Amino acid sequence: MNQLIDSFGRTHRSLRISVTDRCNLRCRYCMPAAGLPFAPRDELLSFEEITFAVDVAVSLGIDRVRITGGEPLLRRELSKLIAMLDEHTGVVDIAMTTNGLLLERYADSLAQSGLNRINISLDSLEPERFTEITRHGILEDVWEGIEAASRAGLSPIRINALLLEGFNDDEVEDWLDLTKKHAIDVRFMELMPIGEGAELGRLGEYLNLTSLRQRLVEERGLEPADPELGNGPARYWREPGAKGRIGFITPMSNSYCDTCSRMRLTSKGELRACLAYDEHVDISEALRAGDREATVAGFRRAVAEKPAGHQWHDGEITKTGMSVLGG
Ligand code: SAM
Ligand code: SF4
Repeated sequence: MNQLIDSFGRTHRSLRISVTDRCNLRCRYCMPAAGLPFAPRDELLSFEEITFAVDVAVSLGIDRVRITGGEPLLRRELSKLIAMLDEHTGVVDIAMTTNGLLLERYADSLAQSGLNRINISLDSLEPERFTEITRHGILEDVWEGIEAASRAGLSPIRINALLLEGFNDDEVEDWLDLTKKHAIDVRFMELMPIGEGAELGRLGEYLNLTSLRQRLVEERGLEPADPELGNGPARYWREPGAKGRIGFITPMSNSYCDTCSRMRLTSKGELRACLAYDEHVDISEALRAGDREATVAGFRRAVAEKPAGHQWHDGEITKTGMSVLGG
């Protein structure tokens, strides 16, 4: 069978592609204030190489891609890549995760190029807090991006909010109120001990979202909403009468490793079958040479070596940051 099935029987359907490791923000749980040693631009995969990688991946059963980073909208002419993926590969679903700062400028061209869906990372509804967690982001710019995405028809709009104990966990009710009024899905995410996130976890900022969900079921009557099993790690709930849903992404308190169907391709051409480990398979040379056989072999090797799941509960941490892994 021509599919990417690992030694634990998991079939891989989804590829997340980081198009740059640079970012215009410095979220405290993701990147140090001074940034990281970024990949030299001439080492980044070209749009042709990424398109070739996706074409090969599709022949191996991948049908969904997500463009991410770093901040993907920093990559020049990104809409061109979306159009290439849409026209020259058989991929069914093209999505993107962005911090939204540049979305007002690019939402229309992204939608016209074939982008289907967008997730916007936004950790706080309070301007000063947003600036604090991102170290210099302006909340208003993100809202303008969200409105532009909505006007461009990039639906459904999903907001990813990383909740941190003692920092933004008092905003949970405000997010619920937002889903009451607007058809927006808000997904709460747990901090993972990846890159800078490991230190925040040690400092006690990790928040258990399985416990939070139980509390919200009791206090606000949340009900299960379209579980979308097999379509990503979020489990969705809805407050009765609300237009939007609340998703819970719980890698720590309720791990979903046993159903993982994702792989990642970094901006330098490293295949990472599991985000929790620093090990990877470098397929950059195969992609540069347009060598289909070697690229297939790279995908197969990465999947064959994929571990059963993360070992963060045993104190392991992941050194490579999310901005490189492509969160
Ligand atoms: N810059 C874009 C953005 O922020 O949406 C895309 C890349 S960013 C690395 C993707 C996601 O990774 C964001 O939603 C961010 O909150 C999440 N992330 C980064 N570091 C994390 C960590 N240590 N634990 C959990 N999520 C993390
Ligand atoms: Fe940039 Fe996204 Fe990391 Fe924030 S989470 S620093 S926006 S890559």
